[in-house]
Amino acid sequence: MSEQLTIALSKGRIFKETLPLLAHAGIEPVDDPETSRKLILDTNHDDVKLVIIRASDVPTYVQYGAADLGVAGKDVLMEHGGEGLYEPLDLRIACCRLMVAGREPWSEQATRLRIATKYVNSARRYFAGRGLQVEIIKLYGSMELAPLVGLSDLIVDVVDTGNTLKANGLQPLETIADISSRLVVNKASMKRKHARVQAFIDQIAEAVRKQEEAA
Ligand code: AMP
Repeated sequence: MSEQLTIALSKGRIFKETLPLLAHAGIEPVDDPETSRKLILDTNHDDVKLVIIRASDVPTYVQYGAADLGVAGKDVLMEHGGEGLYEPLDLRIACCRLMVAGREPWSEQATRLRIATKYVNSARRYFAGRGLQVEIIKLYGSMELAPLVGLSDLIVDVVDTGNTLKANGLQPLETIADISSRLVVNKASMKRKHARVQAFIDQIAEAVRKQEEAA
């Protein structure tokens, strides 16, 4: 029997944009995660399964080897820290920016700015690097609300078109990092299933190159 490959993906944009890359590697899911309640999806290959989990859990599943491979945003990987993972490939999908935003630019003289974010580690690192003392307030969503109700001075969040910021009277202020989704690989799987995993990475890399050429 050939080796099993388990690939961790999140629903929504990452899943939709990863599908054509998987198709190039000959892998097609049997079920649609948007309509199925299954968390383990079969594919057209008996030995390839997709696990559908929250985006922020993908690095953890791959780190512990519960999935051999996964697709995760760089924002999520920066927050996780990347232990136990290789990050061999930028898939150039789900592109956005991790940004500081607020109602107005902050004063460099401000002390102890309050920052609402789910990206607590990235935010702490960024403001420490800017030499600013800040108080980080951990939220799980709808960060844009925090400055509007006086919970924070600023937010750190991912921004694509900027429409959500604008609709809430916020301005993009500084870019912390350009974000895209990455293929991540469990370090032990990379050794134990090397030929299989490397062949998969090569096929996905070729799909990314072809998509870039066509764009
Ligand atoms: P925007 O297009 O800037 O209005 O983004 C809409 C919302 O989608 C924002 O609140 C972001 O948090 C979220 N978002 C945009 N792009 C991404 C992405 N690539 N990954 C995760 N969340 C995103």
